[in-house]
Amino acid sequence: MVRPELTQFRRIVVKVGSALLVDSNAGEVRSSWLAALADDLAKLHHEGREVLIVSSGSIALGRSRLKLPRGQLKLEESQAAAAVGQIALARIWSEVLGDHGIRAGQILVTLQDTEERRRYLNARSTIAKLLDWRAVPVINENDTVATNEIRYGDNDRLAARVATMASADLLILLSDIDGLYDAPPKNNPGAKLIPVVESITSEVEGMAGDAESELSRGGMRTKVEAAKIATTGGTHMLIASGTIEHPLQAIANGGRCTWFLTPANPVTARKRWIAGSLEPKGTLTIDAGAVAALRAGASLLPAGVIRVDGQFARGDAVIVRGPDTREVGRGLVAYDAEDADRIKGRSSPDVMIILGISGRSEMIHRDDLVVGGSRHGDPA
Ligand code: GLU
Repeated sequence: MVRPELTQFRRIVVKVGSALLVDSNAGEVRSSWLAALADDLAKLHHEGREVLIVSSGSIALGRSRLKLPRGQLKLEESQAAAAVGQIALARIWSEVLGDHGIRAGQILVTLQDTEERRRYLNARSTIAKLLDWRAVPVINENDTVATNEIRYGDNDRLAARVATMASADLLILLSDIDGLYDAPPKNNPGAKLIPVVESITSEVEGMAGDAESELSRGGMRTKVEAAKIATTGGTHMLIASGTIEHPLQAIANGGRCTWFLTPANPVTARKRWIAGSLEPKGTLTIDAGAVAALRAGASLLPAGVIRVDGQFARGDAVIVRGPDTREVGRGLVAYDAEDADRIKGRSSPDVMIILGISGRSEMIHRDDLVVGGSRHGDPA
């Protein structure tokens, strides 16, 4: 079981919990700790890696700024506290990253944004564009509109969804504990840290227990749930202690943590999801030039499409066929059937004129496309 190195990863999501970010007594942000974390994040960023942050703290921070008494908040109270806290949180991230010349961009997501495919694709494009611009997305649940029934509630699972949505290759959960132990360490002084989990068996689930701390909702159980989401979606995950200064540097130096390994690399897992788990709603027939381009790894542009069949909406899975009607691959289409039909065979500037908006230039982005290669005996 080889422990991976941080240097192997190119797109990394770092989740920071409320208990780390907000001092539970003073109710304020732990600024020198945060500045040290920002140094680590900036280092990854300046090495050319793409960094995304999932930051909790809106409710905890809002609560302290509003001087609310301790104890359980009612739904509308936590929503309103989050409104106050989130604005402060965004400012803090913007400042600490700004100190390193890095732009932060805030994204607040709801459960529906990750569960509904069209909204999922939309959020994903925004994240991709921010990364493209070398900005750092800072993401939290939109706690101001989330209700008890329709919410993640914990940022561990949210971070795992975001990590797979962004096709990240690594998710780091910074926590108040340095990893998964073979028994909950609070009640078991002899418990041992598991350095690498290769697959999440019921035995591993049993080790998680139910540790909860006052400020963070996610105990080890939700972290193991997050690991399931991440590793099934092709993202490695690790749990490490964030209580020390420079926690990412510590991981890079071989510090204690638990790795949850994904059996597949992100692209393969995501593409497997596209290829296998969705019902195709239509077919795009493309010309020979586009077939060659797709096989070489390009996106499908409207210009290469000859024919559009079926009733599909933007984000639906479609089959892509070559001029000989053989299946070339499958993908998630960026236009609905009607628009796809209007722009087929057209160049990108024409597409803008026809649709009257500057839409996405690809009919199917290559990240959303699985090309069958020589599956049917075609030359690659
Ligand atoms: N989204 C919540 C917040 O920012 C936190 C959820 C969690 O701590 O896991 O306050």
